[in-house]
Amino acid sequence: MTRLNAKDGLVLTVPVVTGHQDFTGDTMTLISLALQRADLVRTQNFIAGQWRDAGLSASYNVSDPATGEQFARVPDSTAADAHDATDAAQNAFEPWRFTPARERAAILKRWHALIVEHSEDLARLMSREQGKPMPESRAEVLYGAAYVEWFAEEAVRTYGDIIPEQVRGRKMMVVLEPVGVVAVITPWNFPLAMIARKLAPALAAGCTVVAKPAEDTPLTALALVRLAENAGVPAGVLNIVTSSRAAAPALVNDWIIDPRVRKVSFTGSTEVGKLLARGSADTLKKLSLELGGNAPFVVFDDADVDAAVEGLVISKFRNSGQTCVCPNRVYVQDAIHDVFSEKLAARMKTMRVGPATRDESQIGPLINERAVEKVERHVKDAVSKGAALLLGGTRVRNDVANGPFYFAPTLLANATADMMLFGEETFGPVVPLFRFATEAEGVRAANDTQFGLASYFYARDVGRISRVAELLQAGIVGINVGAVSTEVAPFGGVKESGYGREGSRRGIEEYMQTKYVCLGSS
Ligand code: ADP
Repeated sequence: MTRLNAKDGLVLTVPVVTGHQDFTGDTMTLISLALQRADLVRTQNFIAGQWRDAGLSASYNVSDPATGEQFARVPDSTAADAHDATDAAQNAFEPWRFTPARERAAILKRWHALIVEHSEDLARLMSREQGKPMPESRAEVLYGAAYVEWFAEEAVRTYGDIIPEQVRGRKMMVVLEPVGVVAVITPWNFPLAMIARKLAPALAAGCTVVAKPAEDTPLTALALVRLAENAGVPAGVLNIVTSSRAAAPALVNDWIIDPRVRKVSFTGSTEVGKLLARGSADTLKKLSLELGGNAPFVVFDDADVDAAVEGLVISKFRNSGQTCVCPNRVYVQDAIHDVFSEKLAARMKTMRVGPATRDESQIGPLINERAVEKVERHVKDAVSKGAALLLGGTRVRNDVANGPFYFAPTLLANATADMMLFGEETFGPVVPLFRFATEAEGVRAANDTQFGLASYFYARDVGRISRVAELLQAGIVGINVGAVSTEVAPFGGVKESGYGREGSRRGIEEYMQTKYVCLGSS
């Protein structure tokens, strides 16, 4: 145990005390989180190359979802702080834009190397504030780092065109330019990867950034920015401010109404995405919106049932079911429905619920009380409308999973389209099984949603595979596979899952605009 000054900004530890505690006092009793680099725990905003408190010095608590304990305080920023960040980003834009692409790439490569070098620290921080099991946090750090490496490589390949001469003596060129200052707003479910895959292409393109991480998980994002600072990202190029949920709308709105901010890249709920799109209309900003998913997972009667069960488990239970690409509705064709359901139930019974501090944990706590209440609401509603509860259905609390936000892996059969979990993402470890008879019916049911991010199906007939892949209304289709995200492929949705693509060779263009230059002969 150590006694540290809570005001020294190096809160790399968690309190031993249980229950909620106010950290306004000078000292507190702590146990070490054993980070190799204590300075990766930042509890201030980063603006114009300086770590500083919010202008009004307000702050809010960050909690450990495994226990509900509050273990750090970060700035509760206002519109004025957001504005300072935009001033810094605007001032830094011209020099960064005209920094040769190769130099920007070199900085991003150093950043990538530092993220990999400190991946264990980043993973611990992430598991502490987000709750996911350590193997998942480690994988996420490397996944996020891969975007930084990818866009370091893409920075030097933003080619334009030379148009063949149409009129004698007239030269026509097309060049890609960075859009300017970009506002980045991210969710809590992937505290590192979601922000990395926006910051990296923005910086690679020559844009400068103002960013706000989710209120529940600011520390991982702040650590990532610390490493960017260490990598040599110049002052003002990357600015980050934190705020509580209550303060977020006013803070973000300052960016939305500011004509200097030329692009918004947002990952989060469809509801907030639409608000940002409406707000951005007045200044006609470029937008990337990665929103809700409500993914279907369809198992046809020619599928390899064991592979489908395993694919579903991988896809569904990552991050305790709190991902925008995880299956929300599982459709199983009549002939294999019962065998699939039995095998899935047997597999789900083996899943261990527990905190990230235990190696064997596979399902961590949900992020907060609001999240657990939503899952409870969905299960209750489904059962009241005729769903059969085959497994789980309640919170878990025991010696291992000793906190308020654990929820049991839950299997429901006889799910129908009038249930809440059909229309909304449950965002928890709940699998509802829907039955269908024909291929056409399965496809129709899968598409019966206003969302269209990821979709999955299992089948072996090659004709069926090609028909269904073409008909599914989604930005991402996984066939006989449950995990598809990678930096080399485009990630994004159709319909009300938003627009814009992250990753792949197309990802950098989201941060660029096209300029046509026509040079006359005189
Ligand atoms: P979730 O419900 O999963 O938390 P949200 O869309 O509410 O998803 O949150 C995603 C991000 O949007 C977070 O950084 C959050 O602080 C921010 N946010 C939430 N509400 C608003 C709002 N009204 N205006 C701007 N940003 C918001």
